[in-house]
Amino acid sequence: MASFRNGRGTVKVERVQPTVSANLRPPAFKSKNSNVRRSSSGAGLKDFDDSVSGRVRVAVRLRPQNAEEMVADADFADCVELQPEFKRLKLRKNNWDSDTYEFDDVLTESASQKRVYEVVAKPVVESVLDGYNGTVMAYGQTGTGKTFTLGRLGDEDTSARGIMVRAMEDILANICRDSDSVMISYLQLYMETIQDLLNPTNDNISIVEDPKTGDVSVPAATLVDIRSHQDFMELLRLGEAHRVAANTKLNTESSRSHAILMVHIKRSVTDMESEISSENDHTLHMSNTSKPPIIRKGKLVVVDLAGSERVHKSGSEGHTLEEAKSINLSLSALGKCINALAENSAHVPVRDSKLTRLLKDSFGGTARTSLIVTVGPSPRHRAETASTILFGQRAMKVENMLKIKEEFDYKSLCKRLETRIDKLIAENERQQKAFEDEIERTTIEAQKRVSEAEINYTKALEREKMKCQMDYMESIKKLEEKWMTNQPKHRTNGLVNGSHGGEGNNQVNEDATELKKMLQKEITLRKRAEEEIHNLRNSQLLPIEAGVNADIIKLQNLLDDETRQKHKLEEEVLLLQSRLSQLTFSSSQPRYSQLDDQGNGERTSITNLHEHVGLQKILSLLESEDANVRLHAVKVVANLAAEDTNQERIVEAGGLSSLLALLRSRSFDETICRIAAGAIANLAMNEANQELIMAQGGISLLAVTAADAEDPQTLRMVAGAIANLCGNDKLQARLRSEGGIKALLGMVRSRHPDVLSQVARGVANFAKCESRTSSKGNKNSRSLLIEDGALPWIVQNANNDASIIRRHIELALCHLAQHEVNAKDMVSGGALWELVRISRDCSRDDIRALACRTLTSSQIFSSELRRLRVEI
Ligand code: ADP
Ligand code: MG
Repeated sequence: MASFRNGRGTVKVERVQPTVSANLRPPAFKSKNSNVRRSSSGAGLKDFDDSVSGRVRVAVRLRPQNAEEMVADADFADCVELQPEFKRLKLRKNNWDSDTYEFDDVLTESASQKRVYEVVAKPVVESVLDGYNGTVMAYGQTGTGKTFTLGRLGDEDTSARGIMVRAMEDILANICRDSDSVMISYLQLYMETIQDLLNPTNDNISIVEDPKTGDVSVPAATLVDIRSHQDFMELLRLGEAHRVAANTKLNTESSRSHAILMVHIKRSVTDMESEISSENDHTLHMSNTSKPPIIRKGKLVVVDLAGSERVHKSGSEGHTLEEAKSINLSLSALGKCINALAENSAHVPVRDSKLTRLLKDSFGGTARTSLIVTVGPSPRHRAETASTILFGQRAMKVENMLKIKEEFDYKSLCKRLETRIDKLIAENERQQKAFEDEIERTTIEAQKRVSEAEINYTKALEREKMKCQMDYMESIKKLEEKWMTNQPKHRTNGLVNGSHGGEGNNQVNEDATELKKMLQKEITLRKRAEEEIHNLRNSQLLPIEAGVNADIIKLQNLLDDETRQKHKLEEEVLLLQSRLSQLTFSSSQPRYSQLDDQGNGERTSITNLHEHVGLQKILSLLESEDANVRLHAVKVVANLAAEDTNQERIVEAGGLSSLLALLRSRSFDETICRIAAGAIANLAMNEANQELIMAQGGISLLAVTAADAEDPQTLRMVAGAIANLCGNDKLQARLRSEGGIKALLGMVRSRHPDVLSQVARGVANFAKCESRTSSKGNKNSRSLLIEDGALPWIVQNANNDASIIRRHIELALCHLAQHEVNAKDMVSGGALWELVRISRDCSRDDIRALACRTLTSSQIFSSELRRLRVEI
């Protein structure tokens, strides 16, 4: 068995079984085998009670002979022989003796840079990416290829790229540029001073140690964020340039200083979260939103140490004392620390130098550390080579406890929660707005429905009202018919019964009876006179004969008068009786007749009658003391007045004054009033008479009658009379000022359709006159009808079931609407709707067309209809 040596002398080499295989990554923290337990402590740093042990791995690399050596050592055998298959290095002591050392890897002079990287650095880089700290360090005599191994940029030959460049390539290829970060610092340690190679002015950087965790950092060093490989290459070049400049200034060389590249990697591990919580930690069962993301912080430190020969040569080859001390200090302190660690010594003098302080974590700490010791082949440097090899051998004994550096990223959790809250606030606001819109929409909808329901209700109410009126009229009609049939059938001479014609017949019969009674009275008076004469003759004979002669003559004259009167009256009675059978009455005629004819023959008879008796006589009877006489006379006059041809004559003969006097007389008799009003109504059909009626105060008389009368037929006559006057353009103002319109409207209280139709006719006549006047431009003020409050009644009855009333009112509305000055009141009074209805529903084309025209030509109506979105 060959005897092997290590730093402490020749020993039997026990093959040291690496705890972790070189080409294996450290076990993932989540592995159950690793027994990793996590607990949160401090500022979210994860603690691992069971760390993974990881021995410092050491590889040896032999530099090929350089040109000088080829010449100088030509006659000598190389002092180093490698057995890579056994991972052994033989250091020749002399031609027959050698020491054999075993390393974790043995890299021959022909080993490619790529292989060196993969063997020495790649496992460390992978650990760093997983959240561990890692160190790659080169140790060896100056000129043996430390910088060649670590720092070659490979600008000309990419295969020559050193560990730094390749490590960065691997790191950049494995991180997520969006969520992860890579920051570097590049420092030089020379004579116990740390200089910033990325910022040369920063030339005395201090080392800071976290008292809690013991972590070492150089916070004052420039930290540059690396986004691309080019960034990194530029920084390396910059650092190298600064290093050369600094060394020139200090009158030194790079082999006297230590170069330290620090790469800080921060990675978030969201992809692992679900696995972690399900496998290991049921207590941390949080929603995605509230679970803090985990970040892993790995730090890779690449150290290109000063030449190891300095340890031995310092002080002996002309170095300044200070420099020698410093070089010694750092390198020898490192050697001492490694010795202490290798021997499991209780005290490790980490604090003796800045280098050992900086590398505290790399040897005996939590980092995965890989050391490459470089040697040259030349036997001339055998001692140096041996010392280097022993350094490596001791380092191989150093056990580190790998610890993953994992933290909860509360900052990013906070940010994530803030974003979530902002989103929820925005969403809430949107929903609030949508809710308000919905409320508004529903309110409008509800209001629309309420108004629709109101309209429907009003219409239904109107219909119901109309139906009631119709029912009422129907029942009145039936009652009247019943009453008629129940009347004793005393009509004689085959007269036709009718509501007004029957009454006329009765009246004529009564007339005849009255005349008979008068005749009888005359006869009785005459008889009494004859008897008196006879008695006188018998009782007062001769003596008084002469005295009484004069009385006799008087009486005789009286008698003669009476006789003549009697004959006259008898003639009249005969005449009346003879005509009685021929007279009949009808209410269907448009005239307001008490006696109306059924043909020209009968009319002629009446004419003949008054010609016979004399109009003057009949009119004088109107003023008779006897109410009965007045009544009969007024009936005759009324019938005469129904005839156009008589109207003028009646008025000329003073009939109008007499009729008005009848209305004026305080002894109010409803029948006389009714007939007189009818007569006046007939006379009022003539335009000249209308003015006379007005002139003689007819309006106020008619108004008084309208106010006092109860009987619908009286009211019909009065309303008819006023309605006729309403049709006269010249009388409008006076008619209104004397209370005509008010009287007309007052009569609607009767509710009798006959009365209502006359009122409606009057209103229509009046409105027509007004529209005629306004179209001539003579009227600019509001309708007097509206002034006198007719509009509500007009609107109410615009859709009256009785077609005659409806027709008059429809016309009245159309006329009122002609004049724009009425439009506002019509809109507010609801007349617009009626006009719209008329324009749509009226059965008469002309009225429908008139309503349409009116609606479209009025600006007020048009705009109101537009507002209400009603199409015409
Ligand atoms: P150190 O940094 O250890 O002082 P260098 O890396 O500067 O040594 O190397 C010294 C010289 O040796 C350089 O010219 C370098 O190119 C060369 N060299 C070092 N190692 C190798 C190697 N493995 N293959 C070829 N040349 C090498
Ligand atoms: Mg170097």
